[in-house]
Amino acid sequence: MEPTQFKPVDCLHFINGQFVSSLDGKTFDNINPSTEQVLGTVAEGGAAEIHLAVKAAKKALKGPWMKMGANERVAILRKVGDLILARQDQLAALESMDTGKPIWLSGSIDIPRSAYNFHFFSDYIRTITTETTQMDNIALNYAVRSPLGVIGLINPWNLPLLLLTWKLAPALAAGNTVVMKPAELTPMTATVLAEICRDAGIPDGVVNLVHGFGPNSAGAALVEHPDVNAISFTGETSTGKVIMASASKTLKRLSYELGGKNPNIIFADSNMDEVIETTLKSSFINQGEVCLCGSRIYVERSAYQGFLDKFVAKSRELVVGDPFEPTTKVGALISEEHYERVMGYIELAVEEGGTILLGGKRPEGLDKGYYLEPTIITGLNRDCRVVQEEIFGPVVTVIPFDSEDDLLDQVNDTQYGLSATVWTNDLRRAHRVAGQIEAGIVWVNTWFLRDLRTPFGGVKQSGIGREGGLHSFEFYSELKNICIKL
Ligand code: NDP
Repeated sequence: MEPTQFKPVDCLHFINGQFVSSLDGKTFDNINPSTEQVLGTVAEGGAAEIHLAVKAAKKALKGPWMKMGANERVAILRKVGDLILARQDQLAALESMDTGKPIWLSGSIDIPRSAYNFHFFSDYIRTITTETTQMDNIALNYAVRSPLGVIGLINPWNLPLLLLTWKLAPALAAGNTVVMKPAELTPMTATVLAEICRDAGIPDGVVNLVHGFGPNSAGAALVEHPDVNAISFTGETSTGKVIMASASKTLKRLSYELGGKNPNIIFADSNMDEVIETTLKSSFINQGEVCLCGSRIYVERSAYQGFLDKFVAKSRELVVGDPFEPTTKVGALISEEHYERVMGYIELAVEEGGTILLGGKRPEGLDKGYYLEPTIITGLNRDCRVVQEEIFGPVVTVIPFDSEDDLLDQVNDTQYGLSATVWTNDLRRAHRVAGQIEAGIVWVNTWFLRDLRTPFGGVKQSGIGREGGLHSFEFYSELKNICIKL
């Protein structure tokens, strides 16, 4: 079908309020993962462009953005949200072309939530207070909050605009200036976002964007730059380790949202229809390329076979294919490299003794594009790499458990600790199990339900720090205590 009336955009850097090419004119091709065709070109930035962007951001710290009153800043940030909504159809189309995700998903979740991030954090500015502390009749202390400075925002490809705005909105609300480095695989909505920020009235130099690669290039240069005060990073745990080592040289503040291998725990007493409906989403939405996906499914043994029969049958019905077809539920994986990686895990599952109950292959008739059928694997034990490592595709393992102790032992036996879901109608068990799971977020009888005021982040190797509401402001600002002797 004719995908959309919107054309792909070529992607330039946005530095000091201007769209610019790389100094040496270098570009790379942007590939559509659902067709394998070239969408357009992307300026390939490196250390030189990062340097210019950081210089502009540093200068802007002394400019109108800093001097602006709260009312004006709130109005501008709200306008960014409004303009995202005004261009929602275009942004949704670009996001689906770039990522391969179904258009209904970009249109109903990614883009509206991106706008909401701006609306939410602009409203939040007015709720921020600081503490005062009186020492008897000796002294009065009060804390003042100020921006942190120049912030580097480094993002992955799975939820490009949603995650970028999740960082950008609070960073700006707290008064900082930024340099954004989106994933090279998904540059288009970031480019439009820069235009929206300009159109909303954000002064030159406050928001800068440099496209390019991560290792030994634009990403690394941003992390190393001495004038960047903090890095907010979302991506793989292994990348986080590299960034931490590099950022240690300039002792930058770091916020980390990293990988996950999240358990989806199903007790026999839960409402199975509700479980199946939500588990289809938590397993396969966005092709399983969501850090919060429940890729390890644990089912109480008495319900195991019944769950599997229904889950396999319903998963078989999910339509895989063209992201622009309204019936499509699962689109294309992000790139050939990632497709090969996910397929490698499916081969490994067989080597490790697993059974592929469903999927594990390219759907018939889809010869172009990185398509993979929803894949359900059983028969693996907790030590298998397929159960331990993040696959980040439409691939889940299903494992039975016999008792709460057995369950918790297995669930917590991983390097990750991002999120978990518990399905049960037993209130006391829900509290008991949720409290013992090693994860930053536990959902009971739901998944992906987010109130942006609540803390978001992982434990163990899934992250450092929390985002959301005040937690985001804490990261993106400095507190100074002023002590006055009375
Ligand atoms: P990567 O870690 O590969 O990349 C993330 C970003 O970091 C990209 O922009 C990348 O650039 C850049 N980068 C890579 N190496 C460096 C480096 N040495 N220095 C600076 N920047 C660098 O993650 P993916 O893009 O593959 O994203 C998928 C991962 O993100 C999964 O592990 C997923 O779980 C995680 N994630 C976590 C979330 C959370 O909230 N916890 C949410 C969403 C995703 P480029 O790729 O352009 O070269």
